[in-house]
Amino acid sequence: MTQGPWPMAKKSLGQNFLCQPKICSRIVQLLGSKQSEQILEIGPGHGALTKHLVSLAPRALVLVEKDATLARECQKTYGSMCQCVLADALQFAWERLDETWVVLGNLPYNIASPLLFDLTSRQPHIAQGVFMVQKEVAQRICASPGSKAYGALGIWVQSFVAPTLAFVVPPSCFWPKPKVDSAVISYIPRVNPWPASLQKPLWKLLQLCFQKRRKQMGGILRAAKLPNWEAGLASVGLDLNVRPEEISVPSWHALTLYFASSLS
Ligand code: SAH
Repeated sequence: MTQGPWPMAKKSLGQNFLCQPKICSRIVQLLGSKQSEQILEIGPGHGALTKHLVSLAPRALVLVEKDATLARECQKTYGSMCQCVLADALQFAWERLDETWVVLGNLPYNIASPLLFDLTSRQPHIAQGVFMVQKEVAQRICASPGSKAYGALGIWVQSFVAPTLAFVVPPSCFWPKPKVDSAVISYIPRVNPWPASLQKPLWKLLQLCFQKRRKQMGGILRAAKLPNWEAGLASVGLDLNVRPEEISVPSWHALTLYFASSLS
């Protein structure tokens, strides 16, 4: 527990409350033309973003908060304008939302990666996602091949949605102050998201290859005893000595298709 403008902040729930209204309105502005859609906010806390969302008068507004005290507070303040649900966002049935929903939140750092892993793959069709995450996680999600941040998480998320890093937010904008920079990402659906039936082999291949990101693909696939691994690489136009971090998202998809039957 830490003392500050509010009685307490629970570290275990990743509570770092935004205390810069300017940043809050910049985040909400990223919704652009989607402002009138149905909006679901994850972790409203004391309502720093909720306040702005309410003033947009969206078709519907749902708040999902895991902290019972904060959920009660939200219900009291915003209950007449939205539906406040006491729940764990990691357990949420994302399939229930369709393309008329926007999901937004200043995410607790301990759940950002698993939540985005899940939300983007289970419901790639939502109209837009806007999230504050740790800067390092934002860079990993938006990374291009060849960069240090490029890896399994970014390839996975980019298989379903098209993310961009909108802006960086310093620790001074929060209470209590986090130790690291944060960043806001925004994404929209990809035209052709990676199909659900091939998600398992894609993730297996990424896990296999990025455990050894500095090794060469030829060595990795040979050690994994994938059948016809040389032909598989050649069919995608890749050399045996290419490293996982150099392979583009479409090439990962082509490799997954080639090896799918050995990976499922
Ligand atoms: N949106 C607020 C609060 C951000 S702090 C602001 O910007 O100031 C993160 C919030 O997420 C906290 O309110 C915390 O209680 C909530 N939270 C933590 N884990 C959660 C989970 N698994 N599901 C839903 N909410 C969660």
